[in-house]
Amino acid sequence: MGRIYIIDVTNRDGVQTAKLGLSKLEKTMINVYLNEMGVFQSEFGFPTTHHESHYLRANLELGRMGVLQPIRLEGWMRAIAEDVEASFKMVPELKHVNLSISTSDQMITGKFLGKKSKQDIVDMMVEAVDAARSRGAETVGVNAEDGSRTSLDFLVKFGLAAKEHGADRLRYCDTLGYDSPFTIYDTTKALAENVGLPIEVHCHGDLGMTVANSVAGAKGAIDGGQDAYINTTLNGMGERAGNADLVAVLLAVTKAKGIGDQYQLGYEMDLSKSWRIAKYASYAFDVPIPINQPGVGANAFAHASGIHADGVLKDPDNYELYGFEELGRGEPELVETGREICTGRYSGISGFRHVMNEIMGKEALHFRDAEEAEMILELVRYANVLAQKPLVEDELLFIAKYPDIARQLLTMTPLDY
Ligand SMILES: [Zn+2]
Repeated sequence: MGRIYIIDVTNRDGVQTAKLGLSKLEKTMINVYLNEMGVFQSEFGFPTTHHESHYLRANLELGRMGVLQPIRLEGWMRAIAEDVEASFKMVPELKHVNLSISTSDQMITGKFLGKKSKQDIVDMMVEAVDAARSRGAETVGVNAEDGSRTSLDFLVKFGLAAKEHGADRLRYCDTLGYDSPFTIYDTTKALAENVGLPIEVHCHGDLGMTVANSVAGAKGAIDGGQDAYINTTLNGMGERAGNADLVAVLLAVTKAKGIGDQYQLGYEMDLSKSWRIAKYASYAFDVPIPINQPGVGANAFAHASGIHADGVLKDPDNYELYGFEELGRGEPELVETGREICTGRYSGISGFRHVMNEIMGKEALHFRDAEEAEMILELVRYANVLAQKPLVEDELLFIAKYPDIARQLLTMTPLDY
């Protein structure tokens, strides 16, 4: 029986959220947290984008160093052979890719303006798959953008062509959030049965069904005989109404009636990191977590009415489906709430050493000498300039532990033309 894997796309779809963004250090921290949580794969960015190059290569280096292990780091690009070539030229260490192209009549007509036929779309995609394979990609996912407005016949044809050229997975994208749990279940089941590849489900929340659709889509893929890969983002960030929230998806697949007891994750996941990763994403994106967010919202375990409060005090199972401790709630906040010595672009060495002694002391680390402390402080100043907010403990510790990587992440040199 197939299993459920998580591919988090915060560092690709999440950062496409209009009006928001993440620094390269923040994107890196998200990969670190995702890895600690046991997420199978992070779609970590855009290899054809120049300002991503240092970040992508530094993160692949963290993979080789064992820091970002076992998580897979996968780059997203258009399913165009030239983009694949450019990606491997700019980020030669790339091992995992997802190649995306529109498959619906609406987008083939509306985006390519009559210049491309459906056959052209298939041809472009297989050329891109071939290019990725010949460049040494270990895994290739193929994305059908606007899959939910594409006929099943064409999706099957597209998927079979991808498979024939050695693709490893087919990503079914409900790009506009048009599916319901019933339709996505039927479609992913049919795709699994007729294409014979593991199916990724990529859902959006335009109709408020993103988590339900993701779970139903995964069930369809497994019932059709394949593994399922759910695309998630932290706190549901993503274009327009967002993507499927990682924590909510994990809660749903492990605890929902008829799902948690019948389907299994492919990897063990550490739900107790939920609180920390959600808080960090909220801080990094500068977007508050809604109070009624599943699991991690301020009110997710709050009880006020007499009957509920009395019931939960007698036995939490009366009104709580799962315990707050499971999600790591109760951990200290990421940001100091008492007196605070902030470290920023104008910090001096005295305040910095005070802060760092405390943080590094927890892991029995210390600066070798004054010179090293000065060097780390300089990196921290640059990180603050790029993020435009005080650094949290985990970020400071990361820079102190991996200064060479931090230096790469903080290097922003526009290319000459
Ligand atoms: Zn998307």
